[in-house]
Amino acid sequence: MRPAVSALILSLASAVALAQAPQFSNAVRGFIKVDAPVVALTNVRVIDGTGTPARENQTIVIKSGAIAALGDAAQVKPPEGATILDLAGKSVMPGIVMVHEHLYYPTGPGVYGQLGESFIRLYLAGGVTTMRTGGNVNGFMDFKLKRLIDDGQKAGPALDATAPYLNGPNTFSQMRELKGPDDAKRQVDYWADEGATSFKAYMNIRRDELGAAVQEAHKRGLKITGHLCSVTYKEAADLGIDNLEHGFLAATDFVPDKQPDVCPGQGQGQQTIAALDENGEPFKALVKTLVDKHVALTSTLTVFETFTPGRPMPPGLDVLLPQLKDQFIQAYTRAQQNQQSVYIKLFPKALSLERAFVKAGGLLIAGTDPTGAGGVIPGYSNQRQLELLVEAGFTPLEAISIGTLNGAKYLGRDARIGTLAAGKQADLLVIDGNPAATIADVRKVELVFKQGVGFDPVALIESVKGKVGLW
Ligand SMILES: [Zn+2]
Repeated sequence: MRPAVSALILSLASAVALAQAPQFSNAVRGFIKVDAPVVALTNVRVIDGTGTPARENQTIVIKSGAIAALGDAAQVKPPEGATILDLAGKSVMPGIVMVHEHLYYPTGPGVYGQLGESFIRLYLAGGVTTMRTGGNVNGFMDFKLKRLIDDGQKAGPALDATAPYLNGPNTFSQMRELKGPDDAKRQVDYWADEGATSFKAYMNIRRDELGAAVQEAHKRGLKITGHLCSVTYKEAADLGIDNLEHGFLAATDFVPDKQPDVCPGQGQGQQTIAALDENGEPFKALVKTLVDKHVALTSTLTVFETFTPGRPMPPGLDVLLPQLKDQFIQAYTRAQQNQQSVYIKLFPKALSLERAFVKAGGLLIAGTDPTGAGGVIPGYSNQRQLELLVEAGFTPLEAISIGTLNGAKYLGRDARIGTLAAGKQADLLVIDGNPAATIADVRKVELVFKQGVGFDPVALIESVKGKVGLW
C-alpha cells in the first residue's frame, strides 16, 4: 500500500511542477519572446489536436504555464492586464510530441557526432515541445540535458531520455554488446538508476535478452521500444515490447527461412516488405497481433525519404556546418541516381502499410530519426514528417493528432499535453497559416509556447546556424 500512496503524491507533485515554467538562465532568456503572468491569444483558429475540425475566432488565456480558458471570442474575454496577442489569420495547434528523435547525427564514417546542444534548440524551434530520444550513443548526455532543460538552464523540449542501445554483437564503435539476459537486466537497472526514462532494443539483440530487458523495464515502470531485425515483430510483441520503430520497414517476419535470433540483414527484410500485400493474410495477422497486444508503431518516413530516388531535398540543410551539408548533398545525389534502389517500391509501401495499421485500430506515433546518411534536420524534419503522413493518406487533422496526441498517449502524458483545452499545459504553436487545410503551413511556426512561455524560433535557429555538426 505505501508505495502506491507515495507514488500518487509524487505524481501530483510533478503535475504541479510541470505546469509552471522554471526560472530561466540568461542564455535561455535570449530565446524568449513572450513571458508574462497572463497571456491572451485572440481571434485565432484553434486546431486542438483531437482530430476535431479547427475552430475560428477563439480566445486562449494562458496563466501559470497552463491554459486557463479556451473558447469562442464571444464567451472568453482576455482578463484585465493580460498581454494580448491578436492572431487574426493565424492558427494554434499543440506542441509536437515525437518519439524517434536523437541528439546525435552521422558526421563521418561510422561516427555519430554528439550534437545535443544544437539539436535541442532546433527541435524546440521546429515546434517540438516533448520528445523521446530513440536510443543514445553517448551515455549520460541525454539524461543531463533533460535535467538542464527541466531546470531552465537550456532551451529545448521536455525529454523522455532513452538509455544507450540494448544490442547484440555489432560493429558500431559507440555501441555496447550484451552478454546475455542477466546482462540485459543489469543494463536496464544501471541506466534506469542513472536517469534513463525509456529503452531501445536494436538489430542484433536475442529473444532471451529482449525478454529480460522488457521484464526489467516494466518492473521499473518504464517502456521499451525496438528497431529490430534478429527478433521479429511478432516475437517482440509476444515478449511484451511496447513499441516498434520504422513502421514495418524493420520487420523480418516475412523473410523465408529466417533463423531465430539472427538478423538476416536489413535489406533481406526490406525486400519482403516491398513485395508485401497489405490486404494479404500474413500482414493482417501481424497487424492483429500488434493491435491486440497494444504495441505502438513509430512512423519515421523522413529518414527513408532521404534514401528514395525522386524525392525533394529535405528542409533545413542550411543550419549544418558547410562540410556536413556538402556531405549530405553528395549522398542525396547518389541516392537520386540509384535506379536499382529498393526504396522506389519500399517508400510508397511504407506509407500504405502505416495507413493499414491505423485502419486496423493500431496506435501510430511519429518520429524523424536524424541518422541515415544525414539530411534529417531536427525541427524541420518534424514538420516534414507531418507532411509525409498526409501524403500517406491521413487528413491534415489526423496527421497533426498522430504528431501530438498520439505521442503524448504513448508517453502516458496525454492528461497534460498533446491537445489543447482548458486545464492542459500551455504547450502550443502559433502558425502563420492554416495547417488544418494546408499541412505545409506547419513550416510557418512563429512562436513556440512551452509551459506558457513563448520561444522565438528565429532566435533559436540563428544561434546554431552554420555550426550544426560542431556541437
Ligand atoms: Zn533511430
